[in-house]
Amino acid sequence: MLNSLHNKGIKELSLLLSDKTISSVELVTYFFDRIDKYESQIHSFISMDKDYAIDKAIQADKLIHRKESNIITGIPYMVKDNISTKHFETTAGSKILDGFSSNYDATVVKNLNEHGAILIGKGNLDEFAMGSSTENSAFGATKNPWDLSRVPGGSSGGPAAAVSAGFSVFSLGSDTGGSVRQPASLCGITGLKPSYGAVSRYGLIAFGSSLDQIGPFTRNAEDSKLILDIISGKDEYDSTSRGLSSEIIDDETNILNGLKVGLPKEYFSEYLDEKVKDSVMDFVSFLSDQGAVIEEVSLPHTDYALSVYYILAPSEASSNLSRYDGVKYGYSENEVDNMWERIEKSRSNGFGLEVKRRIMLGTYSLSSGYYDEYYGKAEQARQIIKSELNDIFTKVDILVTPTSPSTAFKLGEKLSDPMEMYANDIMTIPANIAGIPAISIPSSQVNGLPVGSQLVGPYMGDAKLLVIANQIQQLTDWHLSNPQLS
Ligand code: GLN
Repeated sequence: MLNSLHNKGIKELSLLLSDKTISSVELVTYFFDRIDKYESQIHSFISMDKDYAIDKAIQADKLIHRKESNIITGIPYMVKDNISTKHFETTAGSKILDGFSSNYDATVVKNLNEHGAILIGKGNLDEFAMGSSTENSAFGATKNPWDLSRVPGGSSGGPAAAVSAGFSVFSLGSDTGGSVRQPASLCGITGLKPSYGAVSRYGLIAFGSSLDQIGPFTRNAEDSKLILDIISGKDEYDSTSRGLSSEIIDDETNILNGLKVGLPKEYFSEYLDEKVKDSVMDFVSFLSDQGAVIEEVSLPHTDYALSVYYILAPSEASSNLSRYDGVKYGYSENEVDNMWERIEKSRSNGFGLEVKRRIMLGTYSLSSGYYDEYYGKAEQARQIIKSELNDIFTKVDILVTPTSPSTAFKLGEKLSDPMEMYANDIMTIPANIAGIPAISIPSSQVNGLPVGSQLVGPYMGDAKLLVIANQIQQLTDWHLSNPQLS
């Protein structure tokens, strides 16, 4: 039994811990053995600390022994390196924050640690979460555990690859335009972007503050719910947080029977790889076999979502990133004559290419004379996309779409063409624009690579979405496939 622990979900591991089949120290050691063996091929971590984790595991075992534990006590996890932690440095994948230590834990980390979960390290990401492949990390790219010549997706490629490769039971990422769902899809695991405001962003390094949400990567939707229950809630340190709705969803009766599923035709367009399309349609047939009522719907403004996002997110980023001036945080150029030169040189040398591109795009869109034309217009278009999506949920319970237009692409394949990289987010961005919940679950494979299907629900419909995803996974085994590492 001890050689398949990395394929087990939280619930199963928690039982093994509470009935003393294994200890948390053994569990953590088991995961570090796998990390020692395979991490050099994958590069999912920016930092890790075995001694710290073992120390926490000793404390968790004591809690378990005293029966003061809960379901995640003693379970190892990783967070994306744009989530602040006291013990580990927080780099956001950027040279400009290399060596930066936060003096507090993000609320999500605090909540998980207070429940006895064990933080083993920080996950690699595209610099400041800008990208779809994790190739924009200042610390080198992460590889996809299913095929080492391919990307894990991004920007949370490290946390996704770590769960997929069996280095961590679950992990947290951030999703501004798809950065949890797209890598979950490409790595064959479950990834949730909660409703905007469900989870506190306190301690998350801000990218696009009106779009950012923290969400879990897990082996299944049941674990996703467990983690969401712990990390969600109103937080006095994040005024946009409000927690989840208190609606209780009956998960005993078959929710799939009679479920109204909308297929937005704009998502099944020419952007979509034919084989991915076929595989998502097989998933839809499965839903129909379970009694779901499938209906084609239209969201005509979907086509504008990408342009809206690539104005709003860089605009917010250009403002959020103005604090990195070479004085307050991390990296600083010292061979300078005055303050302005320090700021200019630190930012020029500290930020990578994609981050500079976004800062320029954002600054331009916000500048006087262009504001009305770009940022202002994008805000108006956002409202249209949002109300179109809100309206659709008066007709259907959920939307089903592909998560990503293709399976994992080759490392380097889209690096030279930012527009091609941006186009990868076309299926995931609308949920961020509208602030609604969406989950990617593995639905099959194409040429040995995972494909994810995205389920999108109405605002604050997170609990129901998770019950739907869980019931699907109870009836199928797509989520049980794992990459073979050697
Ligand atoms: N790929 C998108 C971008 O580069 C989304 C990133 C994210 O969700 N953090 O902006």
